[in-house]
Amino acid sequence: MTEGFATPDFSATRLSPEIELSRRGKHSGWFGLVHSDNANPLGLYPIPALCIAGRPGPTVLLTAGVHGDEYEGPAALMRLFEALSDADITGRLIILPQLNAPACRAGTRVSPLDGGNLNRLCPGSAEGTPTEQIADLLCHVLFPVADAVIDLHSGGAASWFVPCALAARRPDGGLDAANMAMAAAFGTKTVWVLGAANDSRSVNGAATAAGLPCIAAELGGGGSVGLAALGAAEAGLRGTLAHLGVLAEGPAPCREQKCVELAGPGYRVVAPERGLFVPFVEAGESVTAGTPLGELRFPDTPARPALPVLATVSGLILAETRRAAVLQGDFLMFVAPEIPESGPGEGATP
Ligand SMILES: [Zn+2]
Repeated sequence: MTEGFATPDFSATRLSPEIELSRRGKHSGWFGLVHSDNANPLGLYPIPALCIAGRPGPTVLLTAGVHGDEYEGPAALMRLFEALSDADITGRLIILPQLNAPACRAGTRVSPLDGGNLNRLCPGSAEGTPTEQIADLLCHVLFPVADAVIDLHSGGAASWFVPCALAARRPDGGLDAANMAMAAAFGTKTVWVLGAANDSRSVNGAATAAGLPCIAAELGGGGSVGLAALGAAEAGLRGTLAHLGVLAEGPAPCREQKCVELAGPGYRVVAPERGLFVPFVEAGESVTAGTPLGELRFPDTPARPALPVLATVSGLILAETRRAAVLQGDFLMFVAPEIPESGPGEGATP
């Protein structure tokens, strides 16, 4: 009995569905990932799932916890589920607030089961490692019943991102307008455009390749839930769901949106050697090429002069490290050049 909503086909996945996604109403359950290891030899790792199915309409897949040390997205999705009833919904929300549940339980970016980064393993494989099996569930079981995808991220424990929506572009331009419209509806002041070099193994890359309108979002980070980032997440979800016709109304989108892209040389600023990074600017500020972004100090040789770290391109400080003690090559900042909304779209996601 489908009651008007497409039933996912679980026949080719190794994960067991303990939730009936075609049932109308508001309910919760999980998908069972069976993986035998020393900690859990004969059990399984549940991946929590929530579903709200109301009047007939589009199915929107909402994901967070693709990385296990990002907390704003899971918080926003749990709060959204609690706040909505099926009477509020035209369509169906399939909500996965801790998609890489083993990583979320460990509070780590990648899975402790296999070292897998779920945002680099899509579309996955039913015969693969645990993280590849979760990617397979997402891309081969849930994508086919979805009409749109919203995937929530943050900077994790190690970094902090300006709250922004991420819109991917396809080489054929097929979804550009739909993705940019979703990003506009998310309502953040900054839209990060993912161009032709976007990683096809990411959730948004796989959704875009599958022909599904999709945005991701970066929402703070630093290992906590910041109030501003949580507010951006909640407003963004409601705005985008209203744009998709699932909710009757949402907050008004920001009228002063700016598009940025990480493309070309110089956007990724990394530590030139091991040291203590002292920042001079914060994420959200705009800088020009040559601006001192900070300096590297050397606690083992404290009389050694500091090494300046300069911006080599002009743009928005899109993200900053939350680590002071850095090794050579460690991430310090992203400097994202501003582009016109119809810009070239050649850049990659980190
Ligand atoms: Zn992430």
